[in-house]
Amino acid sequence: MGVYHITYVPKLSEVCLYFNSACNFSCRGCIGDTYPLDCHLDKKEAAQAKNRALNINKVVPYLKPLSLKKAIFLGKEPTIDRDFLPLARILKKDFFTHNIFITNGWEYVEDEAIDEACVSIKAITLELFEDFTGKDDPLRVLNNFKKYAHNHNIKLRAESIFIPGYIDNIEIEKIAKFISSVDSTIPYRIDGYIPYSENDRFRRPTKSEMEEVKLVAEKYLQNVSILHFGTKVRHAVERVY
Ligand code: SF4
Repeated sequence: MGVYHITYVPKLSEVCLYFNSACNFSCRGCIGDTYPLDCHLDKKEAAQAKNRALNINKVVPYLKPLSLKKAIFLGKEPTIDRDFLPLARILKKDFFTHNIFITNGWEYVEDEAIDEACVSIKAITLELFEDFTGKDDPLRVLNNFKKYAHNHNIKLRAESIFIPGYIDNIEIEKIAKFISSVDSTIPYRIDGYIPYSENDRFRRPTKSEMEEVKLVAEKYLQNVSILHFGTKVRHAVERVY
């Protein structure tokens, strides 16, 4: 429990807080295990070891010198970290931040300190969802997604991981269709899979595969973006902890 990594984007006055909790999913090639540090850092910093987790009282002094507008809570799965909401409340009260959390959607969380949820929809097809996450109830995530959409105090966005030959155009099309059935204006980002090693059974998608899957999702959704190897970092990211 606690925050093991903090990064800051000065241009956007945005801080990212990485939580050390466990996760209720066990995804193949979990990025939290393979690349625990912010992937937007330069290579040297991103290769450094993971820090020891800080409790809330020790996190706040790292934030005080920063000018903050937005705080992003991520890492393994913030919703099951007992420090997540107390820290979000401190940020809201003392720093007036717009608070966003990134979640796999298994738990539904609402709180006055939360402004925005980004739900990662791993898959919709039962067999794929089960094989990828180790959980057997994709409907639970989809129902929580709808609950967020109907909660007017929380802005909602969605994301998925594109894995060639596995969670590919067919599955992303199903996910995009589902999101559009809720609201076609919900922003949707598709991330290219990052293999954990050369022995990974899955590979990294090519740029043209990413562009193609974006077109597939755009048949249903108005605001689709992609993030993949080779996407340029738009604003410098600093390591705070
Ligand atoms: S939901 Fe995220 S943190 Fe949890 S196992 Fe999957 S990739 Fe890892």
